[in-house]
Amino acid sequence: MSDDVAQLAQRLRLGPSELTRGIGGPWSVARRVEEREMERPGTLLVGRAGPSVALLVSDDVDPVVVVGRAVGEWHGLATLEWSVDHVVVELQTPPREAAAGEVDAFLVRLADAVDAAFDAARASLVLCRYCGGLFAPEYVVYEDCCQACGSAVYGIVY
Ligand SMILES: [Zn+2]
Repeated sequence: MSDDVAQLAQRLRLGPSELTRGIGGPWSVARRVEEREMERPGTLLVGRAGPSVALLVSDDVDPVVVVGRAVGEWHGLATLEWSVDHVVVELQTPPREAAAGEVDAFLVRLADAVDAAFDAARASLVLCRYCGGLFAPEYVVYEDCCQACGSAVYGIVY
């Protein structure tokens, strides 16, 4: 389990393994588009295959979690900024004093939303013909080759 997931679990007041079972993975904190960060400060995680799903966790004490599709924009060759698009749902994290049942219900809704966002994004993922991995279009060179295989097979230097 990555530190990013452990941190997310803490923010949402869920057990890390419980969270991972619910929403799958891997997840990592992503660089946000600056204007979006100014509109709504928070932490953006991208994950599942690709990555294809984005979770925006607002900076509020009881965070709101926006679940949708992960969309990346390259700025030059080195900087990829991500945002949430095609929002599936915005979920209010249960307050600190919430009953266990309310927390469980939140996790189920979060897991369902992540699955729905993944299903919606699945068709846009690219299967790399060399390593067999599924990649977001942001990480693909040519039509069926991931960036890592682009280096290994074609000698592309990024
Ligand atoms: Zn590959």
